Amino acid sequence: MPQAGLMMELPLLLSGVLQHAEAQFGQVEVVSRETHGPLFRYTYADCAQRARQLANVLQALGLQAGDVVGSIAWNNHRHLEAYYAVSGSGMVMHTCNPRLHPDQLIYIINHAEDRVVLFDASFAPIVKAIAAKCPRVMAWVCLSDATHTAALEGIPHLHAYDTLVEQASDQFEWPTFDERTAAALCYTSGTTGNPKGVMYSHRAIVLSAITCCMPGLLNLSPHETILPVVPMFHINAWCIPYASFVGGAKLVLPGPKLDGASLYELMESEGVTISAGVPTIWQALLAHVEQHQLRFRTMRRTAVGGSAMPKALIAKFMDTYQVEVRHGWGMTETTAVATIGTLPPALSHGPAAAQHDYLAKQGKTVHGVSIKLVDENGQDIPRDGQTQGELMVRGHWILSGYYKGEKSPLVNGWFPTGDIATIDADGLMNIRDRVKDVIKTGGEWISSIDLENVALEHPAVAMAAVIGVEDPKWGERPLLFIVRKPSASLESQEILDFLASKVAKWWVPERVVFLDALPLGGTGKIQKSELRKLHS
Ligand code: ADP
Repeated sequence: MPQAGLMMELPLLLSGVLQHAEAQFGQVEVVSRETHGPLFRYTYADCAQRARQLANVLQALGLQAGDVVGSIAWNNHRHLEAYYAVSGSGMVMHTCNPRLHPDQLIYIINHAEDRVVLFDASFAPIVKAIAAKCPRVMAWVCLSDATHTAALEGIPHLHAYDTLVEQASDQFEWPTFDERTAAALCYTSGTTGNPKGVMYSHRAIVLSAITCCMPGLLNLSPHETILPVVPMFHINAWCIPYASFVGGAKLVLPGPKLDGASLYELMESEGVTISAGVPTIWQALLAHVEQHQLRFRTMRRTAVGGSAMPKALIAKFMDTYQVEVRHGWGMTETTAVATIGTLPPALSHGPAAAQHDYLAKQGKTVHGVSIKLVDENGQDIPRDGQTQGELMVRGHWILSGYYKGEKSPLVNGWFPTGDIATIDADGLMNIRDRVKDVIKTGGEWISSIDLENVALEHPAVAMAAVIGVEDPKWGERPLLFIVRKPSASLESQEILDFLASKVAKWWVPERVVFLDALPLGGTGKIQKSELRKLHS
């Protein structure tokens, strides 16, 4: 009989993270862009106090442990308070993606059984449109003060957040409960069928947040100032609102202003050292910086994921602006980052091209997460860096089943990601495509990500996307979409010749479609489903 460990058994709870931050980093700042424009600033201690007040408000509204509170909100300090107050009370914080179709929003609010919904004033038109179809919601709370809330019309059971919070006591005893209790809920985007709910436990979030602070990941400590551009309404902003409280980093929340110029100004004025977001955000930021010949005064590192980071963008960040790129992979079902690419010592001073090649891949698993590849028959595939297969993942903060889902999605204890990848002998993983995006031509596969990467190396290309379209002879052929840089001239033949000089002949598309913009989803990713609808 093995000897039991003789350690205390204390649950990992988000209230513990908040209490830690208040006690250790009480004077660390949170800076937040109000929905109506100005910057607001306070400290972790102030945030903890307001979270206790909000916990009292929720109780006074009659909510109990297990109840669900929705949010339709930007990255801002009130949303942050709600993250801790709701989960800390044993309730579930359900972050809703405001860019979902209204029917999908109604579906998820009803499916999750939200009792109260917190929303930013800019989403009032959405709330007005959906409120009547969400009968279980007994309070719609505008994340603002009385004045801005009074300006809204046509919303039932409307409350002003600040008024509720300011009237409540700041004394609240956080309850203790099992660390496996649900803390937060996020629905997948539902590009096929209805969105599916991913229910995060306290344990999963706390472990993931601690991991985010590791030096090879975000390296969060009081020496850092972090600006998460990745939205708090999607995958808990990759757990940064929790991780910054674990590590004690100053937190800068950009609110609704996510354009390149606003982000740059905020980074400079607040001394941001690290940021995190999807590649399209970085494209816009760098376009602004280049156009105005600016430099980054304090930015040292950027974490990027959500879709593949183009090599051309990696090169620009690293070589022109001396901003280190950390390219990771994760999905709603993985709570936060599951793999991350950080240059190994041997490459740190290596040739730039080798660094870019390494960082264009999605890195290695963080401790606590494992990955493997399987073929179409579910058989394991060797880690040779060549053979492609479906990426399977498991770990302490990986989903085991969808909320109210009937069938387990797991296969032999692993979660099938729907991504096609390679893994090399050293554990370095490379996403080649999504299963649904891969282009099958004459029995061979073309990686849309690789083709997009090459197209983006052309100096006149601002954005690129590739989809497969039906072809009577080959099954499918690639179709390339290009958005030109402002005032750049580029015609089909020139970009096709450029591609032909860089990739195998059979990869080169026959056709190019020039667009003014690509359709972006709620999280800033290119929506290939929309391109397919229009052009297949
Ligand atoms: P969706 O994009 O469908 O709304 P998620 O936000 O959960 O849902 O996205 C997860 C998916 O995003 C992954 O399965 C993968 O296809 C893609 N992804 C995430 N990070 C990367 C990356 N660094 N490179 C390529 N694809 C990525």
